[in-house]
Amino acid sequence: MIVTIDKSSGFCWGVVRTIEKAEETLANTNENVYILGQIIHNPHESSRLEAKGLKTISHQDLEKISQEKNAKVLIRAHGEPPSTYKKAAELGIDIVDATCPLVTSLQKRVEKFYKDDYQIVIYGKKEHAEIIGLRGVCNDECIVIKTVEEALEKVDFSKKTVLISQTTMERATFYKIKEALEERVKELIDGGEVSDRFTAKDTLCKAVYGREDKLKEFAKSNDVVIFVAGRNSSNGKSLFHICQDTNPRSYFIEDISELNMDWFEGAERVGITGATSTPQWYMENVKEKIEQEMSSVLV
Ligand code: SF4
Repeated sequence: MIVTIDKSSGFCWGVVRTIEKAEETLANTNENVYILGQIIHNPHESSRLEAKGLKTISHQDLEKISQEKNAKVLIRAHGEPPSTYKKAAELGIDIVDATCPLVTSLQKRVEKFYKDDYQIVIYGKKEHAEIIGLRGVCNDECIVIKTVEEALEKVDFSKKTVLISQTTMERATFYKIKEALEERVKELIDGGEVSDRFTAKDTLCKAVYGREDKLKEFAKSNDVVIFVAGRNSSNGKSLFHICQDTNPRSYFIEDISELNMDWFEGAERVGITGATSTPQWYMENVKEKIEQEMSSVLV
């Protein structure tokens, strides 16, 4: 049996940047270094950084942290709403901003549309950290939707509207929502220009959807696919659906202990892949485990 790791899997550059900032900050201070929320949606990588001293906190802990001298608080790749920066400044907390530059630029775009009086429609998950940040820049005056039906039901078509997306959502669904909204606007304006009433900006991250074709090829070229990701990873869920649609013998695991050797019965080629938050070292561990277990079965 041949076990291979998908060459196009592993951390996206935004996550690499955040982790580097965290490690650099930890290396250059003797004071406490905190991260606001889990650094990435992967428990194994979070534990690795926690072992180096990174402490995960919530917004409620900020006041307590402010009693410490020189403590640093990292903002993770998903970004934060302006209220977090304001509160940190009021409390005198030293912020290390590791927001992914793509998320920062998305926040700026939303802020601009808000100032230009657009009705903002976001394809995403309302309580996802990135969306909480986006909601913050437009004073929570936006509509967050996940499906075509929800979009058609919630959008006020009398308003000038912009559709954008959380960076890690599914591309196909974004375009279905865009088409449905365009169609409805077309019906309502009766011959006018759709672009005067509605615009859609594809703000999906290429690090996620750029992988879709390669992932399909990888899933097709293996008999069994093991998809490794944190259960709360948004892009992990979308990428896993692509694997599963291409190869029904695809299995999602967060932890090595979830591997079931029955999955590999009769398989000659096993592929391991993951989300943009899945560390390479953990996929290597999964590969080693499968090879060890299967060689003992075959002996
Ligand atoms: S998936 Fe894209 S937007 Fe999100 S952290 Fe990675 S590079 Fe940035």
